[in-house]
Formats: sequence, C-alpha cells, structure tokens
Amino acid sequence: MKNRIVTDKSLLDMNTFGISARTAYYAEFSSVYELRAVLADPQVAGLPRRVVGGGSNILLQGDFPGLILHPAAQEISLLEKTGDTVVIRAEAGVEWDLFVAWNVARGYAGLENLSLIPGYVGASVIQNIGAYGVEACEAVREVEIFRTDTGLTETIPAEKCRFGYRDSIFKRELFGKAIVLSVMFVLSTVPRFRLDYGDLRAEVERRGGATIENVRQAVIAIRESKLPDPKVLGNSGSFFKNPVVSEAMSAELTAKYPDMPAYPVPDGVKLAAGWLIDHAGWKGRRMGNAGVHDRQALVLVNSGGATGAEILALARAIQDDIHEKFGVDIEPEVNIL
Ligand SMILES: Cc1cc2nc3c(=O)[nH]c(=O)nc-3n(C[C@H](O)[C@H](O)[C@H](O)COP(=O)(O)OP(=O)(O)OC[C@H]3O[C@@H](n4cnc5c(N)ncnc54)[C@H](O)[C@@H]3O)c2cc1C
Repeated sequence: MKNRIVTDKSLLDMNTFGISARTAYYAEFSSVYELRAVLADPQVAGLPRRVVGGGSNILLQGDFPGLILHPAAQEISLLEKTGDTVVIRAEAGVEWDLFVAWNVARGYAGLENLSLIPGYVGASVIQNIGAYGVEACEAVREVEIFRTDTGLTETIPAEKCRFGYRDSIFKRELFGKAIVLSVMFVLSTVPRFRLDYGDLRAEVERRGGATIENVRQAVIAIRESKLPDPKVLGNSGSFFKNPVVSEAMSAELTAKYPDMPAYPVPDGVKLAAGWLIDHAGWKGRRMGNAGVHDRQALVLVNSGGATGAEILALARAIQDDIHEKFGVDIEPEVNIL
C-alpha cells in the first residue's frame, strides 16, 4: 500500500470559516484498508488526529499538530426497495447536498428539508444535522464506523446512536474513537411533508404546492436569502446551540422579556441563542477581524483574515455576556480543533 500521508498541508480550503492554518500530517482514505495503513504509519503514531469532511462545522484554533483524516469514498447505493420504503447507503465522503439531490431526483422523500446544508454524509450523524423541523436521525437506520481503539469496524443501529439535538454518541462516549465510514438511510416514496417551520409552507405554495422537489427548492431559496455564503464571508453556520433551561428559569426570563422565544422540550425549555445574542446587542458587532453577522446573530463570521483565536475570543466574550445578562450558558455547536 503506498503511503498516502502528506506533510505540512494548508487547511485554508478545508474550513468554511476561511481560517489560514496548517496540519502537520494529512491523509485521505477511501476504504478501511487505506485507513488502517495510514493509522499504522510510524510517523503519525501517538499524534492527535481528527477527521475533517467539508470543514463546515469546525473552528481551527491554529495549526493542527497531528493527523487530519479526510473521507474520500463517495458511493451511493440503493440497497432495498420494498413497497414504499427505500434503503440507501451513502459513504462518508459523499457531499450531503448531492446526496439530498440524488434522493429528491428519484422521488425518495425524507431529507428534502435538509437541502443545502454544507458538509459530507459522514458528519451528518456526528451532530445529527437538522433544519426546517427535520433531523437526519429520523431517516438513519445504522452507521458503519471504524473504531480507532480496537482497529475493527462496527455497525451501530440508529437507536444506539443516542441522537439528540445536535448531539450523538459520536460526540460523547465514542468521541475520538469512531470514524464514520458510511450511513444507511431509510426513505420513502410516499412523502410526509413537514412545512410548519418558518416561511417554508408559503415558499412551497409559491412554487405550486407540496412536492419533494418544491420543498427542496423552497428550502434552498430561504437558506440562500438568510445565511451568509461561506465562499463570500467565512462562517460555520450557527456557532452556538440553542440552550435548554429549566421551566422555572424560562418563566423568570419570559416575565422579564415577554417577546423572548421559548419552546417546551422533554428536558426543559429551549431558548433561541440568536435572540439572546441579538438582545445583548451583539448583532453586527466586530472584535478585530471576527464579527457577528448583521442579519443572523447566531452566525459568527470571519470578516477577513481572522485567526481562530480571534473567533474564539469573540465567542467567549459573547458567552460571558449572555451569562451575565440572562444567567444562561450557551455552548458552541461548532467543534473547536
Ligand atoms: C452556512 C452554513 C449553514 C449550516 N447550516 C446547518 C443547518 O442548517 N443544520 C445543521 O445541523 N448544521 C448546519 N451547518 C453545520 C454543518 O454544515 C454540519 O454540521 C455538517 O454536518 C458538517 O459537515 P462537514 O463534513 O463539513 O463536517 P466537518 O466540519 O468536517 O466536521 C465536523 C465534526 O465532525 C467530525 N467528523 C467529520 N466527518 C467525520 C467522520 N467521517 N467520522 C468521524 N467524525 C467526523 C469532525 O472531526 C468534526 O468534529 C451549517 C454550516 C454552514 C457553514
């Protein structure tokens, strides 16, 4: 097996924040055999390692002193079609939105609300991506991983993935131990439209009514009008997760701020981090080359030449301020590398 490890590689084009940083070692893998060969190479033994797919949910603090692994396998396979149900496997290196488009083109429903989310299929299960009222976990049947602690592959059924809001077992017990190789999804030829989120229904109606293609196009149009394009303004989407607080705390805050959005969830009440950041006066503010987007307070941006440390300093300043003003702790959704 030829050595696929590259040394001292720039990561500038591999992170949507557009942070200029380098990694000591970098390797792409298309199979578990290639992955094993890379991990067995003595030059990377004992070094920290991380997987980076599209780099759309990471913040590079600076140069990475270890090995960055990049999934390159891009096959999509239709495994089964029984009645209305279709089972599809996509390898970790498939671009997420290409996968959504592939399914929509064939009339396979279930992922259309997740159109245009940047990144790869492999990462979709790491934080259980979600948008417009749908989460990836609703369509996941199982996840095939490589365990770096045992050197073996394993298949984890969805019910054992501990999927939650932007959360999964891969961010917790299996953090740093699991490399996602492929994901198996179950979709349907009979759509169950989910249009109750924001302006989606109106946008779908404007396109002539509910079809999965119209839902996809409506989601794309709304996203393009609301979110900054990372190619123009570096960002990683929502920087913070929406915090979940106790009912008592939510009641106290809504008494003080009657227009504050608050949604009951099984373990408390979910608040909108964007609202808190906006109401603390951060929208559009800059600290050095890092800033808060002027239309989306949840999105931190690289205003040009920002370092990871500058973005992190802004994020910490916002977290401290939100804690001081509202008594609420907000956590990053973005993975800090
Ligand atoms: C403009 C914009 C809009 C966004 N909108 C949304 C949204 O609506 N909803 C949403 O949920 N997210 C959103 N995101 C965040 C991001 O698109 C998702 O989190 C996406 O799944 C990240 O994919 P990626 O391949 O870029 O992951 P990366 O950024 O490369 O990695 C993210 C994390 O997953 C790990 N990882 C990646 N691949 C693997 C693998 N194969 N095995 C093990 N670990 C792996 C990495 O180590 C890292 O910790 C948005 C981002 C941007 C820039």
